[in-house]
Amino acid sequence: MPSIIIYQMKIEKLARPSVLSQPVYQAGKPIEHVAREFGLDPDNILKMASNENPLGPCPMGVEAARKALGSLNYYPDSGCYEIGMKVSEVMGLSPKQLVFGNGSNEVIELIAHTFLNPEDNSVFGAQSFIVYKLSTLLMGAQCKEVPMPGLRYDFSMLLDAVDEHTKLVFVANPNNPTGTVATKDEIFDFVRALPEHVIFCYDEAYSDFQDDPVDIRPLIAEGRNVIGLKTFSKIYGLAGLRAGYAYCGEEIASFINRVREPFNLNSIAQAAAIAALDDKEFYERSRRVNKLGRRQIEKKFDELGVEYISEGGNFIMVKVENALGKFDALQKAGVIVRPNVGYGLPDWLRITIGTPGQNDRFLEEFARLI
Ligand SMILES: *Cc1c(COP(=O)(O)O)cnc(C)c1O
Repeated sequence: MPSIIIYQMKIEKLARPSVLSQPVYQAGKPIEHVAREFGLDPDNILKMASNENPLGPCPMGVEAARKALGSLNYYPDSGCYEIGMKVSEVMGLSPKQLVFGNGSNEVIELIAHTFLNPEDNSVFGAQSFIVYKLSTLLMGAQCKEVPMPGLRYDFSMLLDAVDEHTKLVFVANPNNPTGTVATKDEIFDFVRALPEHVIFCYDEAYSDFQDDPVDIRPLIAEGRNVIGLKTFSKIYGLAGLRAGYAYCGEEIASFINRVREPFNLNSIAQAAAIAALDDKEFYERSRRVNKLGRRQIEKKFDELGVEYISEGGNFIMVKVENALGKFDALQKAGVIVRPNVGYGLPDWLRITIGTPGQNDRFLEEFARLI
């Protein structure tokens, strides 16, 4: 006879307190989800919500991934030897300075796991990538969210927020979701002013789209506590594979690597990422399409007289009244963009720059609503 056990203990009491209060990440809606919700044909839906590459995945990455399928019976290389050699060659760093992750999202979480005790805090911009906050909260540590006047980093305010309990400072440049860009002087002066108990995490998810990105390797060479974060999700169009890495001093890397699960970067992702780094044609084409698309969207926004921020990355922020209503209306027309209510920006939509045809379609629907 099967019997039912009735536990007296609520699971709530078993979970760690930081899990009970953990906010849930709001991802951009998948195409299939929107298709079901609004009764639309998924093939006719345009997603410009998650800063994905509009050209599809990098072809050399896809080819390498296909080849790697035949070895799926084997565990991945837990030491990430080949990809480590490749990235170290590309970056001019030692493989010992690298930490690979299931997307840079995981690397950010690994950094939090490695360094944050509950009495510690992380400092980051109030309108910056939500994962800094989620990773900090999950460790039961404290968040110091610093206002961003004009939606850009104010580095003197960031520095003022740093105290004796601060372990990590996160800065994304270009910043997501605001799209604003900080200068090399701002970054370097800030890092050199940080006390030595603080680690600076510099998120470069969108730096490949910049003509003159800030290179933080000199700060690492100086021996500063600096971690750079890179991803294969954006310029290489491999967001679905989940591959990213951190580069930093050997000592910092060795500690983060202790926290890393042995097989966190799967074998398909390792193979595809290695090949993607050689796909110069796709890389340059992605940059070109992004630049052209930026100008195309800016031109129309100027004609419409709307306020926007278009400085960097592969997206543009546009200010509209009732952004959530406009987001909904666009969705019904089959165009998914990203509202920013969760970032305290109810008047802004973030638009991922697409191909010329995609941008046209978005702009046509958008103009109707203005
Ligand atoms: C997209 C993005 C990433 C990359 O995330 P992955 O986990 O590598 O896909 C990291 N940081 C920022 C600010 C981003 O917008």
